[in-house]
Amino acid sequence: METIESLESRAGLNAVARTTAILERIAQREGDVQAFLTVDREGALAQAAAADLRRQRGEAGPLNGVPVALKDNLSTRGLRTTCGSRLLENYEPPFDATVVRRLREAGAVIVGKTNMDEFAMGASTENSAFGPTRHPESLERVPGGSSGGSAAALAYGGCLFALGSDTGGSIRQPASFCGVVGLKPTWGRVSRWGLTALASSLDQVGPMTRTVRDAAIVLGVIAGADPRDATASPLPVPDYLDGIEDGVEGLRVGVAPDLLTTLELAGLDNGGVRSRLEAAARTLTTLGASLVNVFLPSPDDAVAAYYVLCPAEASANLARFDGIRFRQLNGQQGEGEDIWQTIQQTRGRGFGREVKRRILVGTFALSAGYHDRYYRRALAARTRIARAYDAALMDCDVLLMPVTPTPAFKLGEITDPLAMYRADSYTVGVSLAGLPALSLPFGRVDGLPQGVQLVGRSFGEATLLRVARALEKEEG
Ligand code: GLN
Repeated sequence: METIESLESRAGLNAVARTTAILERIAQREGDVQAFLTVDREGALAQAAAADLRRQRGEAGPLNGVPVALKDNLSTRGLRTTCGSRLLENYEPPFDATVVRRLREAGAVIVGKTNMDEFAMGASTENSAFGPTRHPESLERVPGGSSGGSAAALAYGGCLFALGSDTGGSIRQPASFCGVVGLKPTWGRVSRWGLTALASSLDQVGPMTRTVRDAAIVLGVIAGADPRDATASPLPVPDYLDGIEDGVEGLRVGVAPDLLTTLELAGLDNGGVRSRLEAAARTLTTLGASLVNVFLPSPDDAVAAYYVLCPAEASANLARFDGIRFRQLNGQQGEGEDIWQTIQQTRGRGFGREVKRRILVGTFALSAGYHDRYYRRALAARTRIARAYDAALMDCDVLLMPVTPTPAFKLGEITDPLAMYRADSYTVGVSLAGLPALSLPFGRVDGLPQGVQLVGRSFGEATLLRVARALEKEEG
């Protein structure tokens, strides 16, 4: 398996040759999978040639010549950034997101932009205005979402690592479905500047990689303070590879046996997910960790709070797409047509169903008269949920949880939006608490990849990576 690390030991293969091979792989698989919205062939080859020059001069950064795919809500200078929306179909940002700039400085080669649920709203990539991405191993299934294109591209070999964004599970869930590592950092660990906001108090950019060590390398490159994002933490960024091989001897792993029951009762879990979780718990104890029972908030409460708060923030964030800035989507621009008509028509034609649903729900939850009843209550619930996670993490070093109630489902199988929201049962609580979490491939369920989720203390990414690495060694 080719990884970021394995490239370093194969310096013989130059970046241009490697990028060419990746572009060929993309050409082979894209017809079926459709993981990319834009493939930047020429740009990638030019970046690769520059990377080869840097290597010759001894100026190679930590990701020199490594091909990366970026979720299409990360602004890339001069390269189309659609957010999976008609409204931004032809939008080329005049700047790079901070994470993109850091990848470039580290030498990475951007091969293209990946498909996603429109404005990152979804759990299957079926909400993209440009058609769904398919699961690379099983084309009738979804790759998960909203970073489904990034996960699928990485899984089929269209890049060596990818970036996704995670508001309520969008890195972890597709990583689990596609059998790759997905890390959502602590809120504030990575700059959000240049990431098109869904819900600002929840959004985080993070790596999707083939190995835990690769995730550590990428996080080290993208994390850290940013003068352009006051919420990016000034805490120093450690070397995440340091101590990553230390094992789990003496660590306490929190498990919440009740957590699965709610969904099992709803008939959602087929037992396979529980068995993977139990296998991971057994492995950790064999390696010298101890299990501690903890209490975690109910997935139903977390989903309910999230689906008030996320739409509320989204409704405000998406107000900028008004037909004045960005794209205008009215029929013929008639004389004397007023501005309200332009706004209405642009938003009416430009946004898909799920986006409109959330703008309506969010605006309603924030409106005078209902604000206290919905928004404030959801905020109070969020505080309780965050406290419960923090309390659980006082009794242990990391939590072990499922990522999703089921492995990858079929395209078109879930049509009820509320049923789709339940796909986020195990991920949104952690997001509300702002904690770091990692989805690690851990065997298969019904022949499909299935991950387990590790959750760490605030800014505890190093411990999280260390536990994940120990588990990965046993599984791999
Ligand atoms: N599935 C969740 C949602 O639809 C999570 C999305 C995300 O993390 N961007 O909101």
